[in-house]
Amino acid sequence: MAQKVPEPLLIVEDDPVCRRILSTVAEEEGYQVFTCPDGECGWEAFQRHQPRIVVLDWIMKGMNGVSLAGKIRASEIGRYVTILMVTIKDRPQDIEEALRAGVTYYLVKPVMRELFRAWLVAAREIGEDMRQLRQHHQAEEKHRQELEALNSQLECAIAQANEMAAEASLAYIEINQIFRTVAGGIFLIDTDFEILRYNEALLRMAGVTAAQAEGAKCHEIFPSVLCGTPSCPLRQIKQGAEQVENEIEFAGPDGPAYYHVLATPFRGPAGDLVGIVEHITDVTSRVLAEKALQESEQRYKELSIVDELTGLFNKRYFNQHLGLEVERARRYGQSLALLIMDIDHFKHFNDTYGHPAGDRVLAVMGAMLRDSLRLNDLACRFGGEEFVVILPETDGETALRLADRLRERFATLEFQPREDGEVVRKTMSIGVAQFETDESPEALLERADKNLYQAKEAGRNRSIFK
Ligand code: GH3
Ligand code: MG
Ligand code: MG
Repeated sequence: MAQKVPEPLLIVEDDPVCRRILSTVAEEEGYQVFTCPDGECGWEAFQRHQPRIVVLDWIMKGMNGVSLAGKIRASEIGRYVTILMVTIKDRPQDIEEALRAGVTYYLVKPVMRELFRAWLVAAREIGEDMRQLRQHHQAEEKHRQELEALNSQLECAIAQANEMAAEASLAYIEINQIFRTVAGGIFLIDTDFEILRYNEALLRMAGVTAAQAEGAKCHEIFPSVLCGTPSCPLRQIKQGAEQVENEIEFAGPDGPAYYHVLATPFRGPAGDLVGIVEHITDVTSRVLAEKALQESEQRYKELSIVDELTGLFNKRYFNQHLGLEVERARRYGQSLALLIMDIDHFKHFNDTYGHPAGDRVLAVMGAMLRDSLRLNDLACRFGGEEFVVILPETDGETALRLADRLRERFATLEFQPREDGEVVRKTMSIGVAQFETDESPEALLERADKNLYQAKEAGRNRSIFK
């Protein structure tokens, strides 16, 4: 049986003659022989060459053969080594001690060459078996280590998964809690408008059942004016909006409802947009209160008798009042005069200096009239830049003089409609009429208006009484 790589064999023996005999026989049997004269050298050689067959003498200086056998057995590869003890000690208790220390076979000196040779032949086979056993063990060990590593990875992953599962179920409980306890409606839709989650409040607001909401698209159960338009919250959030707020009117089961809708993105763990969360608050009572307030403000304005800009009475009040004054003048035979005044080229002023500057002129006109008239006189804003003054117990001539005084005073007023300090003056034209017996209020007004027209025709900035 030719061996490719000779099997290493260690002989530790202090007697040179014996050592030579043993090594010669071993070499003849094809072993690669290493020899040592003492235990220390033997231990070193064993570690360096890692032989599977070791032949030991017992009695040596320093470390003896039994100690060395114990040390070899205790080493990492010790279990794969076959140890033959060759000694003069031959008492049964010696043999027992050596076997206990790890020696495999025991030969008593003097050693017969042929017996040793036979032992070597047998030992080679044992050595081969040991080599294979060691390989198996090494492969098993590698396997075991791999398994251990896999196991600990698995344990880690399971622990992580458990932790995540615990967190997830906690989050799930929290979300459910939030969904239930939040005052308004909440729903969660994916990027295809499909409803993924909703709460009871939402069903109530939308007036639908859970079965209807299940798997529905949001515009199917909660249609609003935003649906299908660029203002759709999902559309806006898809385009990057972080928050979309709207107030929408909704045809609820019990009449119109007003909902405040707050939409925010709903993102996955990687930051990808999964859909949106819409939080809906019922603001119906607030909106209805606002609407009621607006309506009553409007009604109040309509009922009001004062013109806001000028502080004068308005046209409606004028119409009522003129009727009373005409009636009084007719009944008591008193005189009554009427002025109707109109600012000249006011459109041009507005166009040049702007509407707010025009408003200031009108307000100044109002203040001037309030300041210039008697308590019984009644100045009203008739509309636009036209004003009327009712002058009880006043005849036409007196009224004309008053008209001219007002006109002249107005013409001296300086306006600075621009920041550059430019000074602008305005004029007005006035039509004057005196009440004629049995004349209607409308007829009186019409005659005054005709005179105003004539004043304009005649070149403006004048008063006419005909
Ligand atoms: P005329 O001399 O013929 O009266 O010419 P006018 O430009 O004054 O008359 P017109 O009737 O053509 O234009 C009246 C202008 O008065 C038009 C409008 O811009 C202005 N006006 C009417 N009401 C208001 C108001 O409340 N504020 C302001 N700033 N301008 C008003
Ligand atoms: Mg006018
Ligand atoms: Mg005018």
